[in-house]
Amino acid sequence: MNIPTTCPRCQHAFQTEYLDSGIHELTCPSCLGRFALFIRKHRFETLFDLGTRALLDGYAREAVVNFAAALERCLEFYLRSALLERFAAQGHALEDAEAQLDATWKLLVSQSERQLGAFAAVYLAREGRAPDFLTPQGLGAEFRNRVIHRGYLPREQEVQDYAAGLFALMNRLLGDLGDAALQSILTQEREYAAALTRLDEDVPAVFEEHPGMFRVPRTVSEQNLPPPAPVPASHQLPAHTPSTPRPLNDAAAFQAALRERGTLVSELFGGKAGR
Ligand SMILES: [Zn+2]
Repeated sequence: MNIPTTCPRCQHAFQTEYLDSGIHELTCPSCLGRFALFIRKHRFETLFDLGTRALLDGYAREAVVNFAAALERCLEFYLRSALLERFAAQGHALEDAEAQLDATWKLLVSQSERQLGAFAAVYLAREGRAPDFLTPQGLGAEFRNRVIHRGYLPREQEVQDYAAGLFALMNRLLGDLGDAALQSILTQEREYAAALTRLDEDVPAVFEEHPGMFRVPRTVSEQNLPPPAPVPASHQLPAHTPSTPRPLNDAAAFQAALRERGTLVSELFGGKAGR
């Protein structure tokens, strides 16, 4: 799928293919200058936005595939953030914690049932209550399986209901996580900082925070988390956009978000959108 970007040298606007890493080393088709584009977004956000785009375009079945994947990646986001928070509280270095986490995730990565089990245990340990939403009904599992595995062609309203349920659930998880979400954001920032050091000094870096259906907190509210890795001055960062409050945690929030941000999401994935 393609996303719009603007050359920081000549302001020429053009489309480029979105890369899974979020890191794009580009050459402007107008001035031929090089620059690096970093997208500050998490995979579950991108997947949910793609589902929204498909839904708005009338591709109900494709939307379900993306929404379902977004939920799985959101559970992973919670698990990683919560465990990194715990490691930090115990005084472990972030790099060591990430390495241990990656080694453990390898054991779960190919089996979503294992991931659900790990998530349930981590949620219970952190929140002190059972993840009562983790039922087949709460996850919309029957509907999802009917669509994905049995070729059922859903009506748009059914997909709207499914998406609204997942949206409320995912917002609830982000609300439960609070500032712990910043742990995963730090991980991404560290990856981006490492990529920056590999760039030639005269290549400017552009960081973009794409509009999306979710509003993951990206600034520390209370805790004393370390700041993101500093960006060398030679790469000239534009100002960091502050985050805004997350939407209400109920099914109506999906419709509100759709009205408020659906058009932006639709426009964002211009050109050949991922379907
Ligand atoms: Zn240019």
